[in-house]
Amino acid sequence: MFHGTKPGWIEVISGVMFSGKSEELIRRVRRAVIAKNRVQVFKSHLDARYAGIYSVSSHDGTIAEAEPINESREIMTHLRPDTQVVAVDEVQFLDDGIVQVANVLADRGVRVILAGIDSDFRAEPFGAMPMLMAAAEIVDKLHAICVMCGGPATRNQRLVNGKPAPYDSPQIMVGGHEAYEARCRHCHDVPRKDELQRKLFEASARS
Ligand code: ADP
Ligand code: ZN
Repeated sequence: MFHGTKPGWIEVISGVMFSGKSEELIRRVRRAVIAKNRVQVFKSHLDARYAGIYSVSSHDGTIAEAEPINESREIMTHLRPDTQVVAVDEVQFLDDGIVQVANVLADRGVRVILAGIDSDFRAEPFGAMPMLMAAAEIVDKLHAICVMCGGPATRNQRLVNGKPAPYDSPQIMVGGHEAYEARCRHCHDVPRKDELQRKLFEASARS
């Protein structure tokens, strides 16, 4: 673990879906609890089915249970004055205010652990992740296994009705029948990406 001369820094755990970001976040939280740090865990878009895996317990009972949030400022309103470690999962879905929240907490001496998907289904930066990676003292990029070739997966393949989703489908699909697979650069497929990127480039050159 990183040791500054003063407490307070930002750690980012980035990577594709299924790369083990949540497992790594929980591992760090569990170790912080063992070290008797006061920890708070948050998760955006918390799905009730998975809430249980975020309860990190010690021998004398449950210590850290993830609190669901939709906006970054809720971290500040839920924050207890004596909290030493703040862990947030699924940060890619939060607003850009998370960058300021993370910096303010780290400046105050809090260890901030953030886990999030770094690139969307188009292989483009996701939400505030690039800015958080720039602000962080430590960045880890985890890989999953490419379901096509078995190599290290760095991309999220979106499938709609079993077929690769085209470039112009929305970044976050609401209520769609979609599925995701971890794939490597070479097996990742985004139909119409080249064509639509060229059109966007030509339009910006004209204006
Ligand atoms: P993340 O938070 O990055 O989405 P999780 O910590 O929730 O990842 O899940 C990681 C787990 O997902 C792995 O330990 C493994 O059991 C499982 N898994 C499913 N598909 C894959 C894959 N393609 N590559 C690696 N692990 C996978
Ligand atoms: Zn592959």
